[in-house]
Amino acid sequence: MKDQLIKLLDCAYAPYSKFKVSAIVEMKDGKYIPGVNVENASYGATICAERNAITTAVSMGYKAGDFRNIYIMVSGDNLSMPCFMCRQVITEFFDKDSGVILVGKNGEMEKYTVSEICPYPFDKNDL
Ligand SMILES: [Zn+2]
Repeated sequence: MKDQLIKLLDCAYAPYSKFKVSAIVEMKDGKYIPGVNVENASYGATICAERNAITTAVSMGYKAGDFRNIYIMVSGDNLSMPCFMCRQVITEFFDKDSGVILVGKNGEMEKYTVSEICPYPFDKNDL
């Protein structure tokens, strides 16, 4: 997974922050779907790699519950957690025990569950 994420970083569009992010969603059917961050001169129009990968999967027909794990790599030296907008979207589609796996360019990994990074999610039960 490390090598795929490193290669995918090259596709990120981050001319403003220079902070590139790649994400790969692992589906329960064995498919892997990529996403990168795509910035915009209107900064608020930027989309994160995690949401890009998840929304691409949804565009391909996947539904909530079809998602197994998400792998994330950043261009900086440290591992980075998903932002809270992405955590919100992750809770919409992943199971509570799905993995959120941070991968470093040297192969280091930290694995969390969705429940660990989103202990009190806002979801359909709050509506
Ligand atoms: Zn994000």
